[in-house]
Amino acid sequence: MNSTDLLSTLAHRFGQLYSKLMPIPCLLCGSSSGSDCLCQACREHLPILSHSCPRCASPLQQTALCGHCLNKPPEQDASFSLFRYHSPIDRLIVDLKYHDTLALSRFFAAQMAEQLKERALPQLLIPIPLHPRRLRQRGYNQSLELAKQLAKQLTIPVRHDILMRIKDTPPQASLPFSERKNNMKEAFQINNTDIPAHIALIDDVLTTGHTVNVAAKILRKIGVQNIEVWTIARTIKNDVSP
Ligand SMILES: [Zn+2]
Ligand SMILES: [Zn+2]
Repeated sequence: MNSTDLLSTLAHRFGQLYSKLMPIPCLLCGSSSGSDCLCQACREHLPILSHSCPRCASPLQQTALCGHCLNKPPEQDASFSLFRYHSPIDRLIVDLKYHDTLALSRFFAAQMAEQLKERALPQLLIPIPLHPRRLRQRGYNQSLELAKQLAKQLTIPVRHDILMRIKDTPPQASLPFSERKNNMKEAFQINNTDIPAHIALIDDVLTTGHTVNVAAKILRKIGVQNIEVWTIARTIKNDVSP
């Protein structure tokens, strides 16, 4: 090991030790939050999505199928989102996506697992993949990190070598709603057809649903019967087709 490697290993070990011994400041208010990334007070004020459509997770006054799902149901059979995509969840998801705050994936997964563990769980988790070029740029796929943490918490396997992104599309959030459907056309490919009958697709936010719809369609084609979509947050826009 040369001296640069040794120094970087020592710095890494020191960082690990430091984070174990020293309390972490809350990402939102900066006060001490123990070993979690948010303090108790901030956690209690997060915008939990209490009632939503079981099929597309659109926020509703009560838990029932929404008008969109009654008329033109999305490809997935069920959706679960823990939060409304409101402040400060939007900010925390940006942190998770771009600022390498992977402790957040552990935090979100723990909160999601708490609610999901009561359900009939899928046999496999499949994260929505990034295109290899985007993955190189960002260094990690936030959906895979979340899926790995959920897999650990719920004891379900996770596979990231089944669904591949073959089209390098601009981020959905950067496009007007009208262009998002077209953007995702033929974006994915299946690499392995040995997939159980009940799976959950994992992503950070569910907005128009075009991305998961395309992914679910291709999985349905190869015989997956029950497809769920699990995301950290759901946007509140109810005026776009899921
Ligand atoms: Zn706080
Ligand atoms: Zn719905």
